[in-house]
Amino acid sequence: MRARLRSAGLEDIHEKLEAGVRLDLDDGRRLFEGSDLLAVGWLANRERERRHGPRTFYNCNIRLEATNVCVASCLFCAFARLKPGDEGAYTMSLEEVWDKLRRRANQPLTEIHVVNGLHPDLPFDYYTDMLRGFKRIRPSIHLKCFTAVEIAFLADLFTMTDEQVLRELMAAGLDSLPGGGAEIFAERVRKKIAHDKCGSDRYLDIHRIAHRLGMRTNVTMLYGHIETAEERVDHMLRARALQDETGGFQAFIPLAFHPDNNQMRKLPPPSAAETLRVHAVSRLMCDNIDHVKAFWIATGIEVAQTALWFGADDLDGTVQEEKIYHMAGARTPESMTTREIERLIRRAGREPIERDTFYNVVRGVSDTSLTPV
Ligand code: SF4
Repeated sequence: MRARLRSAGLEDIHEKLEAGVRLDLDDGRRLFEGSDLLAVGWLANRERERRHGPRTFYNCNIRLEATNVCVASCLFCAFARLKPGDEGAYTMSLEEVWDKLRRRANQPLTEIHVVNGLHPDLPFDYYTDMLRGFKRIRPSIHLKCFTAVEIAFLADLFTMTDEQVLRELMAAGLDSLPGGGAEIFAERVRKKIAHDKCGSDRYLDIHRIAHRLGMRTNVTMLYGHIETAEERVDHMLRARALQDETGGFQAFIPLAFHPDNNQMRKLPPPSAAETLRVHAVSRLMCDNIDHVKAFWIATGIEVAQTALWFGADDLDGTVQEEKIYHMAGARTPESMTTREIERLIRRAGREPIERDTFYNVVRGVSDTSLTPV
């Protein structure tokens, strides 16, 4: 492999990795711009196997989007509707939201993942009551709810600080934050594709506060639209810098841009090769974040399987009710059973491990399947 790394111009990066020296912006840019994808994948796979061996994590979860009414106008978003009453707009009642969990009483769910549009009219109680209701129905369920963008929006809407919002939601049962809303931290891109929601510094600061309050969170990166290689690496380095400070991120999650039904529909979606490279470079740059997730809904199942050899060690979970990607043209199924996820991990030559939100092992080998509802 040394000869191949040399001819790919990556020998010095390999040496840095072997010596435990951190990669910098220029290294990251070269990992994106070199032609030998397999050499980059080989480096990332070594880092992945050093941490996790063949182990590949997934969880038994459900995603809910309680409303798609959103005052923001992100160019890549096919999910949001500006006002209640607009075609395709919906807002679930709390009974409808809770019913999604009640109807799954037979499923061994460990996590509910909730993200919403930025609805201008819902009262703050809608969110706290939602959390309390979930815990009433199933006290052991982990509530990973509301992106940093939602937290910032609620703080502004109800004239609270970001910390007050987080504290109130935690008192109602919030256990952790998902990583959505990061998009690309570089201001040039953010101004163009997501100009009217919270900025990068505030996104990171909300995660900083959440970590200080004792919550773990994830961080995402939306790739494959107008961002440059350097802006991707800059994004990874900003996440890495916060992780140095707090240690609160559990997973880095690259999210593929999907072009259907949104204002950027003239752009092509990222290729499989690009997706694999993004996961590999994420593994190499984010050296202090334990997990890199290939979100199978966004990458497609086959690419997610391949990404398990390009730095990724986590596939997210059973998901079940995903709307955001499917409204943007995702052709993946809306859910998988635990048996299906385990089978595809094994067929990729990896070892499936069911985890909870904190990556505690729930089960190494499954012999039961989730019954879809
Ligand atoms: S990405 Fe989020 S904040 Fe942006 S328009 Fe869509 S729902 Fe609203």
